[in-house]
Amino acid sequence: MLEIAALNKSFGAVKALSDINLTIRQGEVVCLLGPSGSGKSTLLRSINLLEMPDAGRIGINTPSASFDLTFGALAPAIVARELVRLRSSVGMVFQHFNLWPHMMTIENVAEAPICVRHETTRHAGLTAAAMLTRVGLGGKLTTFPDHLSGGQRQRVAIARALAMRPDIMLFDEPTSALDPELVGEVLQVIEDVAASGMTMLVATHEMGFARKVADRILFMDQGTIVEDARAEDFFERPQRERSVRFLEAIL
Ligand code: ATP
Ligand code: MG
Repeated sequence: MLEIAALNKSFGAVKALSDINLTIRQGEVVCLLGPSGSGKSTLLRSINLLEMPDAGRIGINTPSASFDLTFGALAPAIVARELVRLRSSVGMVFQHFNLWPHMMTIENVAEAPICVRHETTRHAGLTAAAMLTRVGLGGKLTTFPDHLSGGQRQRVAIARALAMRPDIMLFDEPTSALDPELVGEVLQVIEDVAASGMTMLVATHEMGFARKVADRILFMDQGTIVEDARAEDFFERPQRERSVRFLEAIL
C-alpha cells in the first residue's frame, strides 16, 4: 500500500532522513514516535511531497490510485505532474489546523473537493456536512473558525481531510497545540477514523493513544527508524537501548 525505500533528506549538514525503509499495509494504523528533531515531520511531509526527498523511492498502491516516485535529479518534474493527484489520495492533518478564517466550517471542508476534484457545490456541500457530522460538528456547519474551540477546529481539519476521500491519512502531532482538556475529543475522532479501516501514519507524543490505537510503532531517532515493532511489543518489550531510554523518560 505504502512502500518507502532508501529515502534520504538533508537540510544543509543535518541529515533529517537517513535511508528510511518501511512498508505500511492497507488498513494498518502506525504511530511514529521519537524525540524532537528525529525526523517524524520530515518523513510525513516527504510522503505528501511537502518536502522533496534527495533520493529514494515512495510507492503507493491503493484501490483508487497508484504512484511510483523516484527521487533525485528528475524529482521536480515528477512532483509537478503528480502533486495534485497524490494529495487527493494522501490526506494530511497538521499540528496547526490552518483553516481559512473567512470561510464557514462547511466551506472550509468543501473547498478542496470543489477546487481540486471539481465536484459540484451541492455534492461537495453534502459530503462536507456528512464529514462534519462524523466528527461531531453537525451543529456547527455555518460557524466561522474563530468561534470554535481548538479541539473543534482540529476536528474540522480532520473532516476537511476526510472529505477528499483519501486512501491514506497522515497526522503530524494533531493534538500538540491543544489545551490538555481538548486533546481527548480529537484523539477520539482519530480513533474513530482508525476504526473505520483507514490506513494511517500518526506522529504523536500521546503514548496512551499510540498504545491503544496503533497496530505498529515506528520509533525514530536522528533520521533513522531505530525500532519497528507491534505496538504491544514496543511498549512491553522494547528491543533497542534507545527505545528503552525514550520510554523511561516519558512514561
Ligand atoms: P518534533 O518532535 O520537534 O516535531 P520531528 O521528529 O518532527 O521533531 P523534524 O521536524 O522532521 O523532526 O526535523 C528533523 C531534523 O531536520 C531536525 O534536525 C530539524 O532541525 C531539521 N529540519 C526540519 N525541517 C527543516 C527545514 N525546513 N530547514 C532546516 N532544517 C530542518
Ligand atoms: Mg515534528
